[in-house]
Amino acid sequence: MNDYERSISKTMYAFGFFLILTDLILLILSFANDMPFMRYVVYGKLTLNITNLFIIYKKHYLTAVFIMYIVIIAFMISAIICMGLEPGFHLYVISLLATLHYISYVNVKMTGKIIKAVPAEIFIVLCYALSCAYVRTSGALYPVSKLAGDLLFGFNSAIVIIIIVFYMHSLMDIVNDSEQKLSDMAMLDKLTGLYNRHYLLSLIDKISESDRKNCWVAILDIDNFKQVNDIYGHICGDIVLKEIADITKNVCSDCTVCRWGGEEFVILSKKISNKTVLLEKLRETVQDKTFYYDDKQLSVTVTIGAEEYTPGLSADLWISRADEKLYTGKKSGKNRIVA
Ligand code: GH3
Ligand code: MG
Ligand code: MG
Repeated sequence: MNDYERSISKTMYAFGFFLILTDLILLILSFANDMPFMRYVVYGKLTLNITNLFIIYKKHYLTAVFIMYIVIIAFMISAIICMGLEPGFHLYVISLLATLHYISYVNVKMTGKIIKAVPAEIFIVLCYALSCAYVRTSGALYPVSKLAGDLLFGFNSAIVIIIIVFYMHSLMDIVNDSEQKLSDMAMLDKLTGLYNRHYLLSLIDKISESDRKNCWVAILDIDNFKQVNDIYGHICGDIVLKEIADITKNVCSDCTVCRWGGEEFVILSKKISNKTVLLEKLRETVQDKTFYYDDKQLSVTVTIGAEEYTPGLSADLWISRADEKLYTGKKSGKNRIVA
């Protein structure tokens, strides 16, 4: 069971027990106010809600939700017809309509199947409108006393408010979660988990001119990486890329590291530190590392070009100056730092 399913299961149990609790409260109210019909309706509702717990236990969540909806709709209609609008049972229409799209969304996530919400909405509104119209024209079958009406109105309002608040919180959790995932996808490189070029450029843009004076950037390129792909295959190449990304992140833990593209990474440091020492450590760590793929072992090296900030440089020009130094390093034999 993944986190998502666990949270759905918890929510379903919470709602299942919550409905049973409301049945027990309604039962007490129906005894206290001598409402025999209401008692029989609640007996039926209680039986279905307890059965539903077993359905939830069996993980037939959609069936359980369907039964909950049918039970609540049937209960709302019978309560309106029997007791009129005073006790506020018609308020349930608000929570039924509000939660419908949430359920439809969760179902798509879990099963991939779309529930058509509009027919269900029309059905719920029709049930509500017809039972209200009936009671407005013919009057309630068993009008309730003022005290019972007040108690039920308070109780029903509280239930509807709890459901709406719960639904709004769940919906906001989903929205925030989705936004976080989208922003991660927009900022992060999938293979290496590093930031991407877009993120780094926007980060540099946000650094003030005075803070930039303390910064340097370096561009790292894996040497002869095409050969790694050609000899060991693309999957092996991907593994090496991911491991070099991890090494770079570990060695340059105070810096921002991004995958600039292909097999090139850009390192941004916001501190005036001894960049040559740090980058030399990085170069040596990669050089000393043995990569394993299937039963094969391989080693790779990297060349790095670094450039300090000079006033007025745009992010692109700054990195392209580092790139020129990288090119110099490649031409003069690779596996070196040019700073
Ligand atoms: P140099 O030392 O001059 O940098 O030589 P090189 O072979 O590393 O450079 P070149 O630019 O010729 O080749 C880069 C290779 O990186 C080509 C491309 O197939 C490979 N590459 C780029 N992105 C990926 C990737 O995501 N996965 C894998 N496996 N290979 C990649
Ligand atoms: Mg390259
Ligand atoms: Mg290369």
